[in-house]
Amino acid sequence: MLSLSSDKTKNPKISTRTLKIMYTAEKKKIRRMCTGCYTQIKEAEGRVAAGKKVSTYCSDCEQQPFFCIECFGQHNK
Ligand SMILES: [Zn+2]
Ligand SMILES: [Zn+2]
Repeated sequence: MLSLSSDKTKNPKISTRTLKIMYTAEKKKIRRMCTGCYTQIKEAEGRVAAGKKVSTYCSDCEQQPFFCIECFGQHNK
């Protein structure tokens, strides 16, 4: 039985996504490669070199992907 809320799609022009900083239990910032940059590099070069590491992630995606500010801007369109 599905009981999904449709609140998020009420007004698509206003972004509801939030960029948050991920911390460990010890309050240290977790740093991971930006998902957006990772995909871009992979598509451009066919492999992934060392990319930008960030501690910010999209808290509104189920998988909580890490994003840098630039990629989050794209993601949040
Ligand atoms: Zn990025
Ligand atoms: Zn997201």
